[in-house]
Amino acid sequence: MKQVAILGSTGSIGKTALRVIENLKNDFNPIALSCNRDVEQLAKQALRFHPKVVVLVNKENLPLLQEKLRGTGIDILTGQEGLNKIAEMENVDIVLNGIMGSAGFSPTLAALRKGKRVALANKETLVSYGNIVMDEALKNHTEIIPVDSEHSAIFQCLERRRKTKVKKIILTSSGGPFRNRKNLSNVTIEETINHPVWRMGRKISVDSATMMNKALEIIEAHFLFDLPKEKISVVIHPQCIIHSAVEFLDGSIIAQLSNPDMALPIQYALTYPDRKPSLVKQLDLQEIGTITFESADPSRFPALSLGYRAIEKGGTTTAVFNSSNEFLVQAFLNKKIPLDSIVKITKNIIEKHSPIEYPTIIEIEKAEEWAKMEAANYIKDF
Ligand code: MG
Repeated sequence: MKQVAILGSTGSIGKTALRVIENLKNDFNPIALSCNRDVEQLAKQALRFHPKVVVLVNKENLPLLQEKLRGTGIDILTGQEGLNKIAEMENVDIVLNGIMGSAGFSPTLAALRKGKRVALANKETLVSYGNIVMDEALKNHTEIIPVDSEHSAIFQCLERRRKTKVKKIILTSSGGPFRNRKNLSNVTIEETINHPVWRMGRKISVDSATMMNKALEIIEAHFLFDLPKEKISVVIHPQCIIHSAVEFLDGSIIAQLSNPDMALPIQYALTYPDRKPSLVKQLDLQEIGTITFESADPSRFPALSLGYRAIEKGGTTTAVFNSSNEFLVQAFLNKKIPLDSIVKITKNIIEKHSPIEYPTIIEIEKAEEWAKMEAANYIKDF
């Protein structure tokens, strides 16, 4: 029985992870759960799954949580320190990181340092701190297994195949909710968070609408699979049946297909290299009938070029890219800027940035702060 700590258990990834674990209950046990502030949901999960410990990052509603868990014997920790504690807890085997944004980095590092497997849904960690976390995993003889559906697909396609034989990887993209819309200056928040295929959190829904999500995934793939930007391609595939593919030197392409359901990549990150029956509705190719592909034309999707550009400039640039985007997504959700400004402003900030090569954690944090300040200056003009 493997013990799993779920960071962000009340979010979309976390909830699905609990469904997966419940379905595999003889193999996995959720020993620790955490959330930012959704005490109601966390308490409900705790009473159902009886973890040893729960973490409430935002202490505001601590008394309410204490009240709800009184007499259960479940320990309550708080803050970022609490997250790090469950990430490195002695009997935890796998840390599933479903936390949103840059807050996901420090528990990932803590888990890797203790040699735990990290099932990583938090792509921001790889984008900003890619070299640092990959080095840490190598040093501690452990691994980061991607939960992002595209990267899980590539990971599955590469399974036991030599990476030196890869010609390129092909990331698929739905094209987002505005694939056929030219002007994004006047779209609303409601339209933006309505993704045609995936139900997701707000941040990633906005990223998907701007295609910054795919740009983040280009960078994520660059670090995770140690590939130069020339070997990372994107194709638009609106049905989201092929989750990504790998093209090998001999011209053969191996792809991973399934119905779009995060339960599959989450489960694979837990069971790898094994496979188990899952909750995912079996893909019926005859029922699907037709799948289509379109070019990911950079003039239509300017965000994609930014992803490549950030890799090209290198060093702290990917962190700047991530941080600027994160800040501007929030500004959009607070109705401070139109949607299409996220990409435009981030482009300017990336170009202005003077990157530091092989940065330390502190240098990355500084670069992230710089990017936020720059982004805040742009927002003043709206
Ligand atoms: Mg994805």
